[in-house]
Amino acid sequence: MVKREMEDMEKIIVVASGNMGKIREFREILEPRGYIVKSMADFPDMPEIEETGKTFRENAIIKAQALTDRYGIMAVSDDSGLEIDAFGKKPGVESARWLGHDTSYDKKNQTVLEMMKGKENRSCRYVCAIAVTRKDHDPVVFVDTVECMIANEPMGENGFGYDPIVFYPPYGKTMAQMTKDEKNGISHRGKAVRRLESWLENEAA
Ligand code: IMP
Repeated sequence: MVKREMEDMEKIIVVASGNMGKIREFREILEPRGYIVKSMADFPDMPEIEETGKTFRENAIIKAQALTDRYGIMAVSDDSGLEIDAFGKKPGVESARWLGHDTSYDKKNQTVLEMMKGKENRSCRYVCAIAVTRKDHDPVVFVDTVECMIANEPMGENGFGYDPIVFYPPYGKTMAQMTKDEKNGISHRGKAVRRLESWLENEAA
């Protein structure tokens, strides 16, 4: 392979997700830094990647590493969820599929509130792990959290998922009552993304 092609190969990065919102977000971070961003749609022969990990870190690595192993290219992926201490940190890595993938978040959030009745400890946290994998390198992983409390009732219309019942004490509001910028400023994903950006800027050779 000629040098130019080698350099181009090094700048290709695939986002290991089928979620268009996530792909767009990673594209906004990576493209200004000269990366050529691909999605899973560019690799139709890639078998479904099973998230068999017990932690967010493991799942993020599994998804990205599967692509690096098969195609020899750089990959990035994230895995996130909500840990509720009174439920033994559940739903955790099962946050998306908890009570069924197709169950609405209105229903899931009501169920959490029901299950919280009589429990004193309302602490919870969102966790986000972002993994970057490259051929002949160990995976690089950024794990970040935001400590919160389960609210007494759903509040707010913004955000998604569990946001209406996830209360952030320093701001005195739920994640769903925050603007996008407010949430990004303190969120698990916002923090992990900023660490990814800094690593790309300073350390990714
Ligand atoms: P993933 O896309 O497999 O990482 O699943 C993440 C799941 O965790 C989502 O489907 C939500 O259930 C939950 N989750 C993660 N981050 C957030 C957030 O910022 N707000 C609300 N729910 C979240």
